[in-house]
Amino acid sequence: MSKVVRIHQTGGPEQMVLEDVEVGEPGPGEIRIRHHAIGLNYIDVYFRTGLYPQALPGGLGMEGAGVVEAVGEGVTHLKAGDRAAYASQPPGAYAERRVMPARCVCRLPDAIDFETGAAMMLKGMTAQYLLRRTLPQGGLQPGDFVLWHAVAGGVGLIAVQWAKALGLQLIGTAGSDEKCALAHSLGAAHVINYRREDFLARVREITGGQGVKVVYDSVGKDTWEKSLDCLRPFGLMASFGNASGPVPPFAPGILGAKGSIYVTRQTLFTHIATREATQAMADELFEVVASGKVKIRIDQRFALADVRQAHEALESRKTTGSTILLP
Ligand code: NDP
Repeated sequence: MSKVVRIHQTGGPEQMVLEDVEVGEPGPGEIRIRHHAIGLNYIDVYFRTGLYPQALPGGLGMEGAGVVEAVGEGVTHLKAGDRAAYASQPPGAYAERRVMPARCVCRLPDAIDFETGAAMMLKGMTAQYLLRRTLPQGGLQPGDFVLWHAVAGGVGLIAVQWAKALGLQLIGTAGSDEKCALAHSLGAAHVINYRREDFLARVREITGGQGVKVVYDSVGKDTWEKSLDCLRPFGLMASFGNASGPVPPFAPGILGAKGSIYVTRQTLFTHIATREATQAMADELFEVVASGKVKIRIDQRFALADVRQAHEALESRKTTGSTILLP
């Protein structure tokens, strides 16, 4: 048996209930893992509210780290007793133990502890595919300006450090002066409190009227329109989330009018669709973390049984960096 957080209907944090669920043996291509720590992500909120649909009753959570208890037929890259970490779908990480597809799971290097592993796999590989693979025409060179919204969050604080290591001039936005100071201390070249300053005017000022090459936007509805105007000609709008609500429909013609700009909307799970791709991305992430170029900040820890408070904190914009749940 395992303690598992599930929802029987979509809605607020109160829909999450801790239940005892039978955990079976792993089938072909699967493993069973005992979690030491579980990562909290904003995508968990989308599944809980129903913005992203799933069959009910359903689990939540897509990131974790722990010890492999058993492996199913055909699994060769892991064995019982291995330390491991993952980002995966479908949801189900909010659990003491779970059976899951092995192809999502990587061995965790000895230099990285379980809590860090749980706090970084989904967020870190997201920062990675955005900064390293989601590129504007001509790519990104050291010195280029990019704009990253919600920069003091889980994905954001990893991106700040990674962008600095790449030599980019990252302009970050965040919802309080404290969050801005934190992002600045970790390497954001410029920070804007977008709750009290007009980020479009500030971006124009910082870039001498040129605009940025890429906007990385996970806030969605509230920042979409002005973000397009922050781009320089042929710039790239990389939309990757909806923390304030989904981006409204738009006519493609506006992209031409705003300087022949590009728009892309990607998801990590396309990038980690195969075991080989997952391992390659994870290895690059492990390298930047183990080398100290990117430090994973765990600013909030909650017991798994207190998951409702964890969601409330995340949705009310009270968190910074990564948040983990401890089973
Ligand atoms: P964060 O820790 O960044 O938390 C979300 C942040 O969004 C808040 O802290 C808040 O920061 C900001 N925000 C702005 N407006 C609102 C609002 N109305 N309500 C709540 N928050 C708001 O979360 P994660 O690091 O887990 O994820 C960051 C984003 O990246 C999410 O949107 C997530 O869905 C997306 N994502 C997308 C992936 C993909 O592949 N497409 C993969 C992983 C994450 P502030 O107060 O500073 O504004």
